[in-house]
Amino acid sequence: MYLDLDRTPAGRSELDVTGTVALGLGEGYAPEATISGELTLQNLESRVLASGTLAASGMAECARCLSAFALSWEVPVDLMVLRDTHSEETEGETLLILQRDGEVDLSESLRECAALAYPQTTVCREDCRGLCASCGADLNDGPCGCVEEPVDPRWEGLP
Ligand SMILES: [Zn+2]
Ligand SMILES: [Zn+2]
Repeated sequence: MYLDLDRTPAGRSELDVTGTVALGLGEGYAPEATISGELTLQNLESRVLASGTLAASGMAECARCLSAFALSWEVPVDLMVLRDTHSEETEGETLLILQRDGEVDLSESLRECAALAYPQTTVCREDCRGLCASCGADLNDGPCGCVEEPVDPRWEGLP
């Protein structure tokens, strides 16, 4: 995933992005994400701004039943390539890349965006029943036969 500074026209243009990055988030997370979509570029004299929302997908583990499933999520991107490589500028949430010309490798910045936007809870489907707490059976395959713990009567009637 590259942005070619020498070939980006002045003013506004579009950049198609497609690629796969290793997320490095750890166990239970999708190990890698395939990112695709279009970024809007603003090529100004001293800088190029790239922004937009990309789509990411990867194989994740369901938080309830632990099975692998295809997870997709949206990745907001807001980054800036500064041609002044000695700049000490900071721009709030915007990711900064310092490079004067040539091809800018966006992979690390887009990996960061995809990791930041990773969903908090990942379930294979809204109504996933998860695993039985006593025997570990996947309750999506049907009841496991364990007797459910009776509800403690002291808690009944509480909202
Ligand atoms: Zn599940
Ligand atoms: Zn069970």
